[in-house]
Amino acid sequence: MKSVIRIHSNNQAHWVGDGFLVRTLFSYQSMGEDLSPFLMLDYASPTAFLPSTTAKGVGPHPHRGFETVTIAFEGELEHKDSAGNSGTIGPGDVQWMTAGAGILHEEMHSKQFTQQGGMLSMAQLWVNLPAKQKMAPPGYQAIENQTIPTIYLEDDQGAVRLIAGGHAGFSGPAKTHTAMQVWDLRIKKGAVISLPAPNHWSAALAILQGQVETDKGVAGDASLIVFSRLGTGIEVRASQDTHALFLSGEPIAEPIVGYGPFVMNTKAEIVKAMDDFNSGQFGRLG
Ligand code: MN
Repeated sequence: MKSVIRIHSNNQAHWVGDGFLVRTLFSYQSMGEDLSPFLMLDYASPTAFLPSTTAKGVGPHPHRGFETVTIAFEGELEHKDSAGNSGTIGPGDVQWMTAGAGILHEEMHSKQFTQQGGMLSMAQLWVNLPAKQKMAPPGYQAIENQTIPTIYLEDDQGAVRLIAGGHAGFSGPAKTHTAMQVWDLRIKKGAVISLPAPNHWSAALAILQGQVETDKGVAGDASLIVFSRLGTGIEVRASQDTHALFLSGEPIAEPIVGYGPFVMNTKAEIVKAMDDFNSGQFGRLG
């Protein structure tokens, strides 16, 4: 069994653009080594928006060297990028965007959500790419809710949605560049949940809403439980109905050097990314 290394929570929310009030549950700045290949996780807990005539969100900005994975829980989001991809995602849908060599994109509330208003809740996970794939062509996977296998746990203890990685004979639809598991969990109060994760893999349980108990303490809303690489699988007990993301993956044993929307291996590559962006080489939004 993997052991709990630490638990930390974040009660400091900040706006991303004017559309997403998020709490950062981890970042590669402080936990890049521990959680590789995962770089960052932002969680927007349910936030109410009034009907509006102008869409809120984040306007055009670049990325290079990694992937952004957006998981919608409530409300509706629209994506558009310089590689010609666009899409709308609603509750349960996932957008797996590979920035690779570079894209410009915008991430907005959908037109319909903007007009109607309502509750919005989502998470965005950043997944690193190995050096040899950082400059690969951009990619885009639109993963619809109904294509994500849901495994119902025994004794009505909850459900696991497999976004990436396999479990109990099922496989998540996301194509990944390194081996990982990205699972969306709903756990019932009182349930004791055991989840598999290979020895030597990174593993973390992000508690979005609810509460779980571990042998190192309790983790509540917007908190992160970091597990050891050594050991196989994790186990926690839900002390309330809980919504969580379980992340585990084979670490990428390479240096991480990031600046804003770029995550590369060296400082020179960051300087190159800024030069390329400033000279218009990331394309444009159609
Ligand atoms: Mn972005």
